[in-house]
Amino acid sequence: MTDMLRKLVSSIVLVCSFNSILLFSPLQAADFDLVIQGGRVIDPLSGLDAIRNVGLRAGKISAISKNLLSGKEILDATGLIVAPGFIDLHAHGQNNLANEYQARDGVTTALEMEMGVYPLKAWYASREDNALLNYGATVSHSIVRAKALGAEPENKQLMSYKQALAPGYSTQELSPETLQDVIQLIDEGLAEGGLGVGIGLAYLPGARRSEIYSVYQLAALHYIPVFVHARVTSVKEPDSISALQELIANSVTTGAATHICHIGSLGGVQVPTMLEMIMGARSRGIDISTEVYPYTAAHTFIGAAIFSGKWRENIGMDYSDLQWTLSGERLSKQTFEKYRKENPQGSVIAYFMPDSVVDLAVSGRNVMIASDGGDWENNAGHPRGAGTFSRVLGRYVRERGLLSLKEALAKMTILPAQRLEKFVPAMKRKGRIAVGADADITVFDAAEIVDKASYTKPMQYSIGVKHVLVNGVFVVRNAESRKEVFPGKPVMSQIN
Ligand SMILES: [Zn+2]
Repeated sequence: MTDMLRKLVSSIVLVCSFNSILLFSPLQAADFDLVIQGGRVIDPLSGLDAIRNVGLRAGKISAISKNLLSGKEILDATGLIVAPGFIDLHAHGQNNLANEYQARDGVTTALEMEMGVYPLKAWYASREDNALLNYGATVSHSIVRAKALGAEPENKQLMSYKQALAPGYSTQELSPETLQDVIQLIDEGLAEGGLGVGIGLAYLPGARRSEIYSVYQLAALHYIPVFVHARVTSVKEPDSISALQELIANSVTTGAATHICHIGSLGGVQVPTMLEMIMGARSRGIDISTEVYPYTAAHTFIGAAIFSGKWRENIGMDYSDLQWTLSGERLSKQTFEKYRKENPQGSVIAYFMPDSVVDLAVSGRNVMIASDGGDWENNAGHPRGAGTFSRVLGRYVRERGLLSLKEALAKMTILPAQRLEKFVPAMKRKGRIAVGADADITVFDAAEIVDKASYTKPMQYSIGVKHVLVNGVFVVRNAESRKEVFPGKPVMSQIN
């Protein structure tokens, strides 16, 4: 054998034995179900922002390491951000179509906190083993109220909040006896796992201040927060500031926490003062939080009580600031009155918030990002149901530099988790990239991420969201939706 040949033979032997070691050594058994390899991991809670490998096992995060990890499957995340999955505290679209649009926007947990649901047990059962994203809801004060006033659900057991907010129920004041029934029903809903109480106060002109105060007293008994669409959006007295003052006063006097829904569309031009008031209350130890969606137009139904009386003067808006979502047309006095009469549940987009106000709220300290997205009924709706989170990351962080990537991610992950975790044990495992946390993870390209949904074409997926995992299962992979997977789990409270 020549030297050359000997070298060749020995190197072949070496390669073979190396291969057999790889094939048969016990080290080859994969330690993890999936390893997300080489991504830039950002965890706003711990402050971690570094290249790491993340090992997942049985739906949980089991390792975060600088070293290579062995997995049954490796997901190369080089050049991508690996963040906790986004938690949306304001998701009206509790179906898998709405879930899919939100998943493509990076959301892994979508909760209906403002309007809530009722009865809780039947609602949780309706989504069991059948949900794309993690789901949960508050006890709906509006629905419970309509039920106590004699409303029967249109849809089997579950009443929609739209039915509950129809004139007839929403305009009635409660007798002391009916108020007792309402409190009792809310209490039962909390015992069934409700994530607090949701109050659509702006849609309930019959709800007196004393009624809302009683609901806060119940919430205080259980140390749970009240999520409210405050009484009025108005620049005229009683204005949006007075609406906020009512809720701050309820928190101070009862001890129950308040979460103010969509501060942008609640306050309009008064948002700067209202944010100051919320921060002032917080600095004095009052547990109050708020959220915003990154759009200057709101979305609601045309039959809503907010469009009665002198609404144009109060909101500072005209007919032509309203857009009928079914056709995309701007309204006039004639079409407004026609649609409000013929199709009161039909939805409208309302353009009335200045950019500066939305900028201030999106970048404001401790203000969470929440979509207020709808259910895409008739394939129509507001773009926020598809684009909220990517819009913040693409336009407010990357293009305009109004806040840092880590600050923005905190508003979408750990802040909403912490809002609930005192009485919702599951939330201690969400909103984090940490060992033991649920494997709810969003992997995106920070250079590409942006919303595509517009007012005229709202059902457009965001781009730049590459992979989304819910409890360790891909719901988005290689920027494509995965069908026929239902990894979403219930998020429920545990109260005393
Ligand atoms: Zn609202």
